[in-house]
Amino acid sequence: MLRIAIQKSGRLSDDSIKLFKECGIKFESGSSKLRSVSSNFPLEFLFLRDDDIPGYVEDGVADIGVIGLNVLEENKKKVDIVKELGFSKCRLSLAIPRNENYTGLNYFEGKNIATSYPNLTNQFLSANGVKSQTHEISGSVEIAPSIGLADAICDIVSTGGTLLSNGLKEVAEVFKSQAVMISNSSLNSEKKAILDKLLFRIDSVQKAQDRKSTRLN
Ligand code: ATP
Ligand code: ZN
Repeated sequence: MLRIAIQKSGRLSDDSIKLFKECGIKFESGSSKLRSVSSNFPLEFLFLRDDDIPGYVEDGVADIGVIGLNVLEENKKKVDIVKELGFSKCRLSLAIPRNENYTGLNYFEGKNIATSYPNLTNQFLSANGVKSQTHEISGSVEIAPSIGLADAICDIVSTGGTLLSNGLKEVAEVFKSQAVMISNSSLNSEKKAILDKLLFRIDSVQKAQDRKSTRLN
């Protein structure tokens, strides 16, 4: 039996559940469920907050998991990335008040940046020779400039709508993300064999989707 951790509810959940169902794996995924064992594949699902997933996989509480690359790279847990899953695509971007004149990355010199991703933000800015401070907040980052908490933000963007409605504009991309499957780095041979089977099924699903989208284009 292999144990997988997926997000309980959020932007990774629906596509994660859909992927495993498309792989032919039957399991219950009702909103009140915290765990569920598949009836036709040796897989047990744990439904968790996404932030906890990399740590559980590192510790071996779960064998594998589905997580956004952004969360994984921010926290640097020791796990293996075994597959890019191609959904929950988004980017981490720097944004500033809409009426500001953007002059390039040097704009951020000496500025205070609110973000839930201080490590990724600092890495990006220092790699570009910019000295600035980050101020870590865990949510509603977009509101920080308008309440005087920060000069700018670094946050997850998919369409940019939330930025616009908070009077901000995106000016630089810091990190590109998508959902990935991670694995504990020391699975036993029985678990490895199940994981290989699962990865084979995911490959088949992805190939079928690729063929379908080429036909439609
Ligand atoms: P939880 O309650 O589990 O902690 P959360 O609020 O931290 O959830 P979500 O907003 O559900 O997280 O986002 C989960 C992941 O989905 C993000 O870490 C990111 O990888 C991806 N994501 C975030 N926003 C978007 C978006 N607008 N479009 C696509 N993917 C996104
Ligand atoms: Zn989270």
